[in-house]
Amino acid sequence: MPQMSEKDNFLESERQGWLNVARWRPSTGIGRFDAQYSPSTSLLSINVNLHFRFLTYREFAQELGNANWEDNPELPIWTDAEKESYKARFKYITEQVWSRQYRFESSKAGWTEFGAQVDVNVNCASTRGGAHYVIRAVKVPEGEGFRSQCAHEPLWDGMFCQRDVRYEVEAKRDQSYANFAMNWLEKAIERKHCDFLAFDRSASTLTNQAFESLAGFVDVARRHIYGSFADSGLKIWVYANADANDSGYRIASKRSAEIAKRLRQLLSPNGNVVEEVGKFSKQRWIRTPMETNLRRRTNLNATEISARNFCGGMLLVKNRLTNIDAGPLDEVPALPRNYIVAAHEFGHILGLPDEYFGVQCDRMRNEIAKRRDLPVAVRTRPTNDRLVAQQEGFSGLVAAADVPAPIMGSTGVVTDSIMYAGKRVLPAHYVTFFEALVNLTQPYMAPADWSIVPDNPNNFIHAHASA
Ligand SMILES: [Zn+2]
Repeated sequence: MPQMSEKDNFLESERQGWLNVARWRPSTGIGRFDAQYSPSTSLLSINVNLHFRFLTYREFAQELGNANWEDNPELPIWTDAEKESYKARFKYITEQVWSRQYRFESSKAGWTEFGAQVDVNVNCASTRGGAHYVIRAVKVPEGEGFRSQCAHEPLWDGMFCQRDVRYEVEAKRDQSYANFAMNWLEKAIERKHCDFLAFDRSASTLTNQAFESLAGFVDVARRHIYGSFADSGLKIWVYANADANDSGYRIASKRSAEIAKRLRQLLSPNGNVVEEVGKFSKQRWIRTPMETNLRRRTNLNATEISARNFCGGMLLVKNRLTNIDAGPLDEVPALPRNYIVAAHEFGHILGLPDEYFGVQCDRMRNEIAKRRDLPVAVRTRPTNDRLVAQQEGFSGLVAAADVPAPIMGSTGVVTDSIMYAGKRVLPAHYVTFFEALVNLTQPYMAPADWSIVPDNPNNFIHAHASA
């Protein structure tokens, strides 16, 4: 019998059923799931067994040991049809949101044929003994609040209510997210050099370099600019001008029209978010961001800047929250975050920490500081040992997988990340899958042999998060 190669051994281990792990515990210290890898079909299956218990609000209060539990009404109760549809929706949402956002690719020399798409399978009909988590689903009376959460070892207990499989609507958070998106886009304009697009003297056609800048901006801006952005009334504004040696206002408006036209084409089908400033006197709010752009990217002196004496154009984001001539408060733009509690909490079951408690340890801060699109500086501010431990483990995995760290928001910043208050699954949210895969495929594969790459054409963030 010919000697088996290392690769044969690897494939043989799949046939022997060795490439799976039960009750895997990520090194973040939270979460629990089963994982199975099939090199022959390029599939990593993440399997989560849930046992559901349906409770009235009164029963729940009793279980919590609340002193006045008997004061709670016995209604509403779950009907059998409601129980079934809740479980079905829970399964649908978690599988849809968490599967196939990214996949794994092998870069090991001679082994590049190996990879893994990721299927998350949620079994909502598990027995209590076979479950990774027991879910207590509580029917909460109208107008009554509920704090959903997951408890990990030793309880393995999830607490949810009937609203948690629907989109959360909360005006303040939607406004805060719109603010984040605008700040992020302002930063993207700067990073991609669209804060000043130089024109050749007397010319109104874009230079190749300026066009490349616009294209580079659009490439990353798609993260936030899609359907609901345009609906919110937010705009990307174009402003262009001419200097004393140019041919005056006529050429300024031609430049503006040219930038706007190319930008609309690049942003298609969302080109309607592009607006031209036209006359400065009509859009006085642009003075501050315009002067910032000019100071950053030109050699103009203060007089030339205030006279708007420049030969070029720029992009600006209308941010009513930070501009002085803001509209009345009810005009504060809001962007839906498409946040669903069940999808977020499921992230904890997969071992991922919350991202809204700020940066808990220096290791996490160092990973975040590698990003080039940070809207705010990050500082380490530990709030409790449990969170510190989670971020220690998480940042270690982020470093090992070599993916951009999520922005662990400080107070007031709301991001679109699913582990914050949005629906977006980031590359870093696959690191606990990465850890399980590395564990399953050692010693054949080293951690550095596996990389996380995008697997969802609608998720624009991956390639550009740290670009
Ligand atoms: Zn959470």
